[in-house]
Amino acid sequence: MTVKEILARTSEKISHRWPSTPFLDASLLLQESSGMTREKLLASYNLEIEEDVLEKFNLMAEKRLAGYPVAYITGKKEFFSNTYIVDRSVLIPRPDTEILTEKVLEAAGEMIKKTAAPVKILDLCTGSGCIAITLKKELGSGVEIEASDISENAEKTFKKNCQAILGHQIPFYRCSLFEGINGKYNIIVSNPPYLEDSHVEEMISKNWPEPESALRGGTDGLDLIREITEKAYSFIENGGALFLEADPAQMTEVNMMLSRNRFSNVEISKDLSGKERVISAWQK
Ligand code: GLN
Repeated sequence: MTVKEILARTSEKISHRWPSTPFLDASLLLQESSGMTREKLLASYNLEIEEDVLEKFNLMAEKRLAGYPVAYITGKKEFFSNTYIVDRSVLIPRPDTEILTEKVLEAAGEMIKKTAAPVKILDLCTGSGCIAITLKKELGSGVEIEASDISENAEKTFKKNCQAILGHQIPFYRCSLFEGINGKYNIIVSNPPYLEDSHVEEMISKNWPEPESALRGGTDGLDLIREITEKAYSFIENGGALFLEADPAQMTEVNMMLSRNRFSNVEISKDLSGKERVISAWQK
């Protein structure tokens, strides 16, 4: 069977049950099982696939058909042009979080222009480390990045990603939100768990494999964001900012929380599907 035939057949099967990105899913699985790069795969449509590759691919495709996310099957996920190691210890990095990261890159870039000292940034609930590592990779010595997460398993994955992508570690605190944090930062960024309990229950009932602790935000999904907005102000330097990802339906409420906790100049940004996804505010 050729590359073209396998991709056509498998993406067709996947599309019936998981219609969002069936061709991409099938290609990523074939890349992983064959060891080919994306470019090589797309240039090899008429190549016959060897039996052992086909066997590996079929096992992966079965998992995908059963609903397992591609990133957990391959153990990899692209985020801001870097490949992150992912497993069930961490949330799979989302394109939405690239928007959050871009907003922080813009703000930090402005701060770097204005001061000689490195801009200090804390990534709360870092998970795989995709936000913290992207910021360090993009901004280099202009920033001092630190990260935290409550999960011991996430810490291990975070450290692997630091080593693989940056070649060095980023200071990491294993703690619940601000409990182990003592410093002050120019920017605090977080993609905390923000899904409502009912939504998480539904995901669990369908055997969704991502860690519950990275998704569950309490009855209204806002437990962690509430605590972050209440405590963050005193951990931010004058003129600094807080950047959060949240659900589009939570934006009005989060906006009010920020104002109630002395933040100003609240700004809301949309994700790639046009939904409000990122909210920021300033400490000044
Ligand atoms: N955006 C994720 C989802 O919808 C939730 C991530 C989070 O809670 N931080 O699955």
